[in-house]
Amino acid sequence: MERKKTNSEKILSVVAPAYNEVDGLDEFYSRLVEAVKDLELQLEIIYVNDGSKDGTLEVMSKQHNSDSRITIIDLSRNFGKEVALTAGLDHATGDAIVVIDTDLQDPPELIPELVRKWTEGFDVVNAKRIKRKGETAFKKITSFVYYRFLYQLSDIKIPKDTGDFRLLSRKALNALLTLREKHRYMKGLFAWVGYSQAEITYERDERYAGETKWNFLGLLDLAFEGLTSFSVLPLRLASLLGFLSAFAGLFFAIIIILKKIMFGDPVAGYPSLVVLITFIGGVQLLALGIIGEYLGRVFNETKNRPLYFVKDIKPSDYLADNKD
Ligand code: UDP
Ligand code: MG
Repeated sequence: MERKKTNSEKILSVVAPAYNEVDGLDEFYSRLVEAVKDLELQLEIIYVNDGSKDGTLEVMSKQHNSDSRITIIDLSRNFGKEVALTAGLDHATGDAIVVIDTDLQDPPELIPELVRKWTEGFDVVNAKRIKRKGETAFKKITSFVYYRFLYQLSDIKIPKDTGDFRLLSRKALNALLTLREKHRYMKGLFAWVGYSQAEITYERDERYAGETKWNFLGLLDLAFEGLTSFSVLPLRLASLLGFLSAFAGLFFAIIIILKKIMFGDPVAGYPSLVVLITFIGGVQLLALGIIGEYLGRVFNETKNRPLYFVKDIKPSDYLADNKD
């Protein structure tokens, strides 16, 4: 498999994070290699083993033994996809870098098309899903709504219905790597760096093997991450709610006073009080909760911990060349 690095050929790095993907990894590898074999680019595969508890690392190592284009970054534990992705990107040496899931939901066959856009001069090429197979109606609907919500709310335009599958030029990647925040919403960060962005569309496949690592709470967490990382609108919304309820309170007070003065009405009692108290209590708690979300993130950022620890690196030829 040994291929020497020549100056005429540029390197395509494929960054693939994997967490418990033992059953699909060989298929992923063969489809990937097949898909890019006609490109006039040297291939570099960067696997990130995100603390898998099955034989994922062993499968990777076996591939690494027979293919010197593979780098394995073995993280010290499971850090989650966003960080695993970052670890892979940190070690990519390529001129163009593709980010792809290892469960074959992002078809490797699309890579030549991504590369074509890159050779046309685009720095970021997004792959947008026009169809998702094998996902529940609930996930499809919530994600449809969420992407549109986020698009409206966030300060930068995060492409809708676009996962992490995309290509970055070296220039865009270098920019991205300077962003070291702990709360990483990669889809947002990719967009945040800017540069010329292009888009291709595809139908998202079902998982080849295994099952999704996201449960409902995990997705909710990611959704919050996206919102809080790229918008302070919720904070403003909290102030707005406070303002509105204070205004409503004042309005009520005036009406009650006027009714008392003009008609001598007895002041209506208990039920309306309870309604008001619970309403205002709810608004206050909501506002506090929103502030808490942001405060918690500020807290995490100030701890200034490294993003991840690497247990072991098995370098490809490229990475070995680049050392020292
Ligand atoms: N993944 C990871 N670390 C995690 C969870 C997931 O590296 O903690 C990888 C996983 O192996 C896969 C990709 O991220 O290659 C996408 O994960 P998954 O298929 O579970 O997400 P979904 O496609 O359901 O959004
Ligand atoms: Mg998947």
